Amino acid sequence: RSRVRNMVFPEKLLYKQPSVLVGRTDVVAVTPWLAPIVWEGTFDPVLVDNIYKPMNLTIATTVFAIGKYVRFLQDFLETAEEHFMVGFHVRYYVFTDRPHDVPSVNLSQGRHLSVIQVPGSNRWQEISARRMEIIQTTIERQIRREADYIFCLDVDSKFHARWGSESLGRLVAVIHPGYYEQTRDRFPYERRPASTAYIPMDEGDYYYGGAMIGGFVEDVYTLTKVCRTRFEEDAGNSIEAAWQEESHLNRYLLYNKPSKVLSPEYLWQDFKAKTKEVKVIRFSGVIKNYAEVRPN
Ligand code: UDP
Ligand code: MN
Repeated sequence: RSRVRNMVFPEKLLYKQPSVLVGRTDVVAVTPWLAPIVWEGTFDPVLVDNIYKPMNLTIATTVFAIGKYVRFLQDFLETAEEHFMVGFHVRYYVFTDRPHDVPSVNLSQGRHLSVIQVPGSNRWQEISARRMEIIQTTIERQIRREADYIFCLDVDSKFHARWGSESLGRLVAVIHPGYYEQTRDRFPYERRPASTAYIPMDEGDYYYGGAMIGGFVEDVYTLTKVCRTRFEEDAGNSIEAAWQEESHLNRYLLYNKPSKVLSPEYLWQDFKAKTKEVKVIRFSGVIKNYAEVRPN
């Protein structure tokens, strides 16, 4: 797929002068490996859209709705239509064992939804873990021909504000809202050396949320393939990482640094009060009754 890079369309677009001296000082907006950390106020939405729009991109969005989780689809899709990648081509891939319960949601022009039937499971840990495998095989089968970028998202969530082209990058991860004020030894990484997701106490950058993985289709493909293989290797040794695929994701990203990091604005939790550095909540996990929605 050919791309036009860093060209602004139209030329002579007017926007606020970027400053070298004035900007947000209450948060860190770049990692020590020089990847941007995306916060409100660090980017100009009109400018970034005008850079990415001429590339005529298609964004794949995968979402799993297995068992009772189909109930979350309607709000997820309706709010995505309002806030997620507005003005871009979006292809939703909904994986479910209940295709007849997928709600029909009006999609804007240039947006498309396909339902892919997958088996259910009696263990939520397995549903969560098999996401890597199913994303991997679906990229092989179709997504790599149908999209440029991919975002893999949790369905038990809603969009509340813009999630746009500022989030695009080669490999994109999101900082988990629960741990960004903690030191690395407090992160809930997998700590048993017997697991392939093991991270020692003196390593770790951020604690990334498993509810979002994004980037170029091929980079996410490699990530899902590696995480799946490691998950299966662990299973062969009768070990399951502390937070399943989230643990494997964190291990992968420690040694394969993301090229863009999304701030917790892009993954909040409804039960958590907004903190002062979060100027806008863009996407958040809804409050759910675990005992009622999960199979076990
Ligand atoms: N999921 C599902 N059915 C289940 C359990 C999980 O479809 O019975 C999918 C769903 O997409 C969900 C994701 O796996 O958003 C992660 O699970 P969950 O949201 O329960 O984990 P949490 O965010 O609470 O850690
Ligand atoms: Mn969730």
